[in-house]
Amino acid sequence: MANPHNLADVVATFKLILVGDGGTGKTTFVKRHLTGEFEKRYIATVGVDVHPLTFHTNRGKICFNCWDTAGQEKFGGLRDGYYIQGQCAIIMFDVTSRNTYKNVPNWHRDIVRVCDNIPMVLVGNKVDCVDRQVKAKMITFHRKKGLQYYDVSAKSNYNFEKPFLWLAKRLGNDANLSFVEAPVMAQPELNMTPQMVADLEAATIAAQTAPLPLDDE
Ligand code: GDP
Ligand code: MG
Repeated sequence: MANPHNLADVVATFKLILVGDGGTGKTTFVKRHLTGEFEKRYIATVGVDVHPLTFHTNRGKICFNCWDTAGQEKFGGLRDGYYIQGQCAIIMFDVTSRNTYKNVPNWHRDIVRVCDNIPMVLVGNKVDCVDRQVKAKMITFHRKKGLQYYDVSAKSNYNFEKPFLWLAKRLGNDANLSFVEAPVMAQPELNMTPQMVADLEAATIAAQTAPLPLDDE
């Protein structure tokens, strides 16, 4: 039987930098992938957990070594060692906190300073919450910078795979890459109703086709 923890058959590995304000849900998100959580390694010199998140694709098994801080981001920016040799990134904010969205350009700048223009995905987490403050139409930063955007909910596993699939396609320069098997995930802590999901998806489509504001920097 194939061992899901076996990294020997991985065909490609990428360092993925996970950034965003403290409290946005980064650690919760990365821990949903259970093999990555089981195999994680703590690097004491930089104070990070590295989660090897594997995905089965039609081109073979790939691994994102996903870096997650031990909370240092709450005290300002992260040290260069966190970013060095980063090949892709996820920038997370919390849709219930406008301030965390306002800080997205700072996280983007910090990545670009060390890593140039690596593939990046912006994710708005906690879309399960009814008190959403950052509405779909307010999320425009990614469109100006060539990033992809996804709504996610770490607690309900909603859209968990989407950022990884987009990054994998970009990194492999392969639009036909697909995931052929779901990773082993933690059970959802809450479920979003089909109506809530339908509303979110309609709002996302409407926002993507709306004209960009000219003035918001
Ligand atoms: P980090 O500082 O970015 O690593 O954030 P944590 O993963 O520690 O999460 C901060 C808080 O947000 C915790 O109380 C989590 O339970 C909560 N949280 C994380 N993800 C979600 C989510 O998808 N939905 C909701 N409602 N709460 C979440
Ligand atoms: Mg954390």
